[in-house]
Order: sequence, then structure tokens, then C-alpha cells
Amino acid sequence: MTLASIDAWLAEIGDGDIEDWANKGLLRRGRKLAEASGADAVETDGERLTTRLDGHRQTLSGPGFDRLDCGCPATATCHHLVALLLLAKTTRMATIDESAAAAGAADPDWLLGDEAPLVRSLGRAHWDRAGRWMRLGLVPELEEGPAGWVAEVTERASERVRMARSAGPEAATCTCGAPRCSHRALVVLELRRRLGLFDPASVENALSREQTESLAAIERWMTQLAAAGLAGLSPAMTDQGRVLATAARQADLPRVGALMAALLDLLEQDRQGRSFADVRGIGGTLAALRLLVGSLEKAVPQVPLLRLTGVNRALYRKVAGLRLIGVAAEHWQGRLGQEGISVHCYAPGEGRWYRLTETRRPLQDQQGQWDPVEVWRHGRWAEGPPLRELPASEVLLRTGWVSAEGRLSGRPGTRLEHRALRDPAAELPVETDFGALRGRFAEVMVEDLMAPPPRLPVVIRIAQAGSRQFDPQTQWWTQPVTDPNGAELTIGILVRNPVSALKRQRMETRAPGSAQGWRLFGTLYRAQAGLALDPIALLTDGAAAWMSLTL
Ligand SMILES: [Zn+2]
Ligand SMILES: [Zn+2]
Repeated sequence: MTLASIDAWLAEIGDGDIEDWANKGLLRRGRKLAEASGADAVETDGERLTTRLDGHRQTLSGPGFDRLDCGCPATATCHHLVALLLLAKTTRMATIDESAAAAGAADPDWLLGDEAPLVRSLGRAHWDRAGRWMRLGLVPELEEGPAGWVAEVTERASERVRMARSAGPEAATCTCGAPRCSHRALVVLELRRRLGLFDPASVENALSREQTESLAAIERWMTQLAAAGLAGLSPAMTDQGRVLATAARQADLPRVGALMAALLDLLEQDRQGRSFADVRGIGGTLAALRLLVGSLEKAVPQVPLLRLTGVNRALYRKVAGLRLIGVAAEHWQGRLGQEGISVHCYAPGEGRWYRLTETRRPLQDQQGQWDPVEVWRHGRWAEGPPLRELPASEVLLRTGWVSAEGRLSGRPGTRLEHRALRDPAAELPVETDFGALRGRFAEVMVEDLMAPPPRLPVVIRIAQAGSRQFDPQTQWWTQPVTDPNGAELTIGILVRNPVSALKRQRMETRAPGSAQGWRLFGTLYRAQAGLALDPIALLTDGAAAWMSLTL
């Protein structure tokens, strides 16, 4: 029985699972060791699989990574165990194929059964937290295959959960690295929701005790601030504010935490007498924070399922006759190894931004077979225009689908026309008042209450650029730019992969000197050090098209 369940699990896991559980380096070393040892190194007593590698003994006593054991002195995962898994997969292949065929893709018992054993194995706290997430509309992005599920959970950061079909949560991995976590619980709840076994509306308290307390403390702090006024603001109060901002982030209130931090930055600037324009900014941010905290507190008993924070493909709506201005293309790399290209477009009629994205899905484990630059050169949008012609083009989407988050779809049935633009910036909203832009960012932050802090696409016109700085410690590249009234904004690039390194290099070579009068397209977001603009493309005066910084 045990051996059959081990076989079923081995059939369902691949290199991606092993890499998420161990890491790339251990996978490589383990593979080397396995190749040197040969498949007949695996022995079985009918219940367990064992190997003897490098003079140590390894055992796999059940389905799941935590059923692995090695006698070597390594305290955590070792490459011997990776080798055991790879060898066992090879040796057991014959058995595996049969059992996998027998199991098919039916819903497994652990998923269909009573919730008590699931709560026990996932942990009550994680289970409850995942329930609250679902109540607030946090939905994992799920991909289902015959071997199981790969899910992307985007809460504060993106984490990837892999759950094998036969073994379930007991043998699941998550990139957060914790042995048990709310990400895994969220995936199980979403699977049960799809089967009608869980209803998010049944979760009574959408906010946890920590969240309620955090909101109440911030409410008291804001009252104190209002009483003291800007003149009476003490360092003790700003210190307390920082503590509350951190507490809000830790209590899963990222937007509250980010708004608090934004407010404290403005108060700090004001205290140092740096800018008059920011007094208005302080009022706006304080109002936004008040509105957000108030809505969260009031909404608790009957929070509707808020717009999800991940991307749910079902939420695309059909549009007809949407006119789009192609602006800029970018190549990007994410923290979890996701990679893709996006073409950013502006819809003048709606006054909002859209993007068309081509990406390699994390489910496809093969490395190096998908080249974003190739896709950029040869790809098309729904059998329509070549991607590389989209920037500086005008597109009429006769029939198409767009998501609530502003994604454009390339699904079959899409019909569109395109033609070249004469002036690439003619219809774009160009921001020339950076103070007002800060205010707009604060407004966007309150639009979607529980979503992670947003990235706001913007086009700015630069009156003057300051000197560039690079901090080798944090890998943070910055350049201050100012508008005609002298209000400042920071262009910031976190140089952490080849694509962001290229972006930095191009900012330095293509935007030399004062950069006066240049237009810059990018996304505005809250970085650790404050509000920053992540640049995507540049437009010099008289140029026929935007220059991408990454393609
Ligand atoms: Zn070992
Ligand atoms: Zn996790």
C-alpha cells in the first residue's frame, strides 16, 4: 500500500517540485550524483525505498518530501535525497506508469473528505487565515494538470504552491519555505470551493484580531495627529507611526501599511522644511488613510468579495470598439523566475492603461526553451499585428477581452486593426505636476482596499534631472527628476537581474545630461525608500517612437 502511494507521488513530481523544495544548486548536484550511481542503487523492502550514496543511507518512507531521511551530517535538505528521488523516479517508472493510469485525474479522497483532517495537517491558524483571505477576495491563480496543481498566491509577495494530486497538502511545497503555511491552505480551500465544499461567504470575521487591533491603533494615532497639528508633531509620534505601519504590514494590511509609510515620509519632509507643495500631499494622504481605515472597520461584517488581488482569468470582459494607443514594450523578470514581455497601451476614450503580456508559465519547468526576445521579434497579437509594431501604433480592438486589472487577452475570436501613429505622445496624459501625481497615487491606493500596493502607469515630462546614484549594498539605482515647479520624483531601478541591469545601462547611455524636456513612461510604486518611478521607455523631443529600456 505504502509503496503504491510512494509510486503515485513519484509519478506526479518533476524537476520543478524538487527545485522548489530544495534549490537549483542541490538539484544539479543531486542529478550528478544520480548519474554517477545508476538506477540499480535503489532498493526496496516492499514498504520503503532506500539508497546508499557517499557512504550514507537514504530512505523514502512515504509520499512527500518530509518522508525523506538521510544519515549524512547535513542538517537540512541534502543532494543525496535529491539523488534518491531522481533515481527512484527512474527505477519505479514501470510501476509508476500503471498506477498513474489507474489513478487517472479523479478528485482524490483527501480533497473530497471531511475538513477536520485537512485542518489538522495544514494547521488551524493557516486554515482560518486562508479562509479570511478568500472572504476578502484573494484567489490563487491555479493551473491543473493530471499530476496535480501549481498555484500562484499573490498576497504580500508572490509564492508558488505545488500540490501533487495523490498526496495532497501533506506533500505540497511552497516557495515561502515554511513547513506549513496559509498559501497551501488557500489552494486547498479554492479547490474545495470549486467542488462546492467551501463557501467564502461562510467565513464570519473577514478581519483577524491583529487586523482589528492594528486599525484601531492607527485610528487613535490619526486622532492624536489631528489634535497636535503639523506644528506640534513630535519625533515620538512619528516613531510610533513607523511602528504602526510595520504592524499593519505584518497583520496583512499592506495597503494601510504603505499609506502610513507614505504619510510619514511626507511628514518627515515637511519637518525638514523641504517642500511647501507637500502640505497638500499630507492632507490628501491623511484623508486617504482615514477613508481606508474607516471602510475596513465598517465593512467587516458584510465585506463583499472584493476584487481579487491575483489575476483570475474568468474575469475578462468582452469589449467592442476599444481604441488603444501602443506606447512601449518591456521585457521583465520576476522574483520567482517568471519572465515575460509586456506591451503597454493607453485607451484615450476610457482614460486608462492596458497591457498585453506574453509569459512563460511556471508550470513549464523546462528552462531556456522560451526566449522573450524571440517572442518580441516574431510574435503577433491574436494573429493580428506583429508585437514589435504595436508601440507607435494605433489599434482598434473590434472584438476583444480585457481583465479588470487591465490585461489584454489574445484569445481566439479577437479581431483588431492597426495603423502607425504620426505623433506617439499626442493623446497620452503627460504629467507635468509631480505633486499632483503623488496625490493621484494616494487615490489609487484606496480604490482597491485589500489589494497589494499598486503600480500606476504614468508618462511624465522631465524639466530637469539630477545626478544618478547607485548603492551597491541595496543594488538600488536612483535619479531624481523635477517638474517645472521644482517638485521632485525619484526614478528608481532595483538592479537584481540581467534585465534590470540593462535598464540601468540604457538609462545612463540614452538619457544623458539634463534630460530636459524628455518624456518617460514607467510605473509609479512604493519602494522601500519611498515613492519611485520604475522606467520602461523614453521619448525624446521629435523622436518617432518610444525607446524601450529593455528590448
Ligand atoms: Zn545526505
Ligand atoms: Zn507558503
